[in-house]
Amino acid sequence: MEEGHGVKLCPYGSHRVLEPLGALPQNAWRVDNTPHALANEILVDVEALAIDSASFRQMCEACGGDPAAIAETILRTVRERGKQHNPVTGSGGMLVGCVAEIGAQLRKDDGLRVGDRIATLVSLSLTPLFIERILAVECAAERVRIQGQAVLFESGLYARLPERLPLEVALAVLDVAGAPAQTWRICRAGDRVLVLGAGGKSGMLCAARAREAVGMQGSVFGVERAASESTELLLREGYLDALIEADARDALAVARAFAEIAGAPADVVINCVNTAGTELAAILPCRERGTVYFFNMATSFAAAALGAEGVGKDVDLLIGNGYAVGHAQTALETVLERPALLAYFQRRFAAAQPV
Ligand code: NAP
Repeated sequence: MEEGHGVKLCPYGSHRVLEPLGALPQNAWRVDNTPHALANEILVDVEALAIDSASFRQMCEACGGDPAAIAETILRTVRERGKQHNPVTGSGGMLVGCVAEIGAQLRKDDGLRVGDRIATLVSLSLTPLFIERILAVECAAERVRIQGQAVLFESGLYARLPERLPLEVALAVLDVAGAPAQTWRICRAGDRVLVLGAGGKSGMLCAARAREAVGMQGSVFGVERAASESTELLLREGYLDALIEADARDALAVARAFAEIAGAPADVVINCVNTAGTELAAILPCRERGTVYFFNMATSFAAAALGAEGVGKDVDLLIGNGYAVGHAQTALETVLERPALLAYFQRRFAAAQPV
């Protein structure tokens, strides 16, 4: 496909890459964020960015928790790179907004129209973004309200926002949509499952889905540094059999506590923590030929692969693909079908006040 002035349009958006030329947008250093839809693109008027948790935590720590400094960091990144691609963590997040333009040569079978409210299901780390103004940094929800535009490529996934859910809740759930969908795929009836970071956003969805997949013959355990409202909910609703209070950076402590409480190694370990250095805490408690799923974006591929080798564990290491067929639907259903989880997400995300 060609734009009028001879630009060769790529379904993956490589025509927007400025540096290095020829790269795909995700691994590009800088993309062209001109807020206009080329023939195979969609332009979105952005309302809010849901910043990836590992990225938000990193910026928050670097800025001493100051919302104004976080806003400045985001503006600087987007100015330099044309996208909210955190140069330290390499991660992005996703956005919600209304369709402003649909490229002339773009065929959408789903009847998408200008004015529809959508959430993008591809990372901000590859999405051209133009920010006019940051309106609020909502630290508790890791969300940033902005005035600006973003470009969705021909291959870019999106979901229309369901009317039954407040925008903020849908955004929070869709941000981690890959996790419950993959959990549903990899957990089998009767499995013993361990979820690291079980009390966080993705961890709660994974624990709920894991419980459904393993059934009452199986068991689901969680790790968090300390009990909280979210872990109490998981225990009360029966999504977790027990909570282990431990630091996921301390692999030996996690492995010991898990062996004591579960009595046998895990069939599946799911890492939903948002900090670095937790690879071995996921690998050690897993049985031989079990599965370790790293949804955590602060995971080091080298630390996981060499760590498993170093402790002689023949386990399948899964990288947390953010996409699985039907993941948006699965993730939304995970909360819509569970009233206690839905109420918690509404309280935690919809009620967040600008800081
Ligand atoms: P979240 O809601 O912040 O949850 C993370 C949880 O981990 C929190 O409950 C946190 O507890 C806990 N935690 C952090 N450090 C810990 C430690 N050392 N020991 C025990 N628990 C610890 O984050 P999320 O939104 O679910 O995201 C989780 C991860 O998924 C992030 O790394 C994010 O980047 C990644 N992610 C991946 C994809 C993908 O496509 N693969 C997409 C989106 C997000 P505290 O709050 O007490 O620290």
